[in-house]
Amino acid sequence: MNQSIVIVNNLSKKYNEVYAVNDISFKVNKGEIFGLLGPNGAGKTTTVEILEGLISPDSGEAIIDGIDAIKNTKKIRSIIGIQLQQNAFFENLNLYEIIDVYSKLYSSNNDPNIILEKVDLVSKKDASYNELSGGQKQRLAIGIALVNDPVVIFLDEPTTGLDPQARRNLWELINNLKGQGKTILLTTHYMEEAEELCDRVAIIENGKIIALNSPQKLISELISSGFKAQKKINEATLDDVFLNLTGKKLI
Ligand code: ADP
Repeated sequence: MNQSIVIVNNLSKKYNEVYAVNDISFKVNKGEIFGLLGPNGAGKTTTVEILEGLISPDSGEAIIDGIDAIKNTKKIRSIIGIQLQQNAFFENLNLYEIIDVYSKLYSSNNDPNIILEKVDLVSKKDASYNELSGGQKQRLAIGIALVNDPVVIFLDEPTTGLDPQARRNLWELINNLKGQGKTILLTTHYMEEAEELCDRVAIIENGKIIALNSPQKLISELISSGFKAQKKINEATLDDVFLNLTGKKLI
């Protein structure tokens, strides 16, 4: 039996009489990578921010690891990991020091070296944020999300703007986190990313969940409804050409 670590029941949030989130319910199992997909304005960020204790819903229930995310926001923030967007880091500190600052903010005893190891940034421990590549910046953001040893990690479009190689490095890192038993709630606009990483996805449109299942089951359902892809699928893609030429080593 799967154990639900995130439970969302009948959650709604209106802005100016328009529902950003309209009576949605879903559960995330412990140890899975769960994707929230949907077009811009669908309600993904609103849903995630309610779960993170950053905004209050108008009605409904959100529970993470048995804790009420609406009533007990302080406690929630201590048990979840949020991947912060760029610019929020201290420019004059090196990576070791940045992780150390965040660890102390969370009163965590985690050794920054171990966090840097988890996100493959040990070789950059003396570098400053500005000296990092796009992929390295994203890995640092995930490292910071790990300092409090969270039960659920929220990743908001973690690979947007990255080259194919850096994107795959991030996929490997996210899969490794799953391998360590972490539960991950991910938003992405890249369907191949959701297909590669997510155990299950919820597709949201106009504040409603319009589909929820594993990527494979959703694809099978579409095929059995008579759908035929318009374009013949090639045995290799331009992505494969790029990766084959540039290699896959971690940079
Ligand atoms: P997504 O993350 O899927 O792009 P959002 O949750 O950001 O969607 O937004 C859902 C809807 O709620 C959109 O129509 C958006 O314009 C609206 N919305 C989000 N935040 C606010 C806000 N603070 N004030 C007014 N409307 C908002």
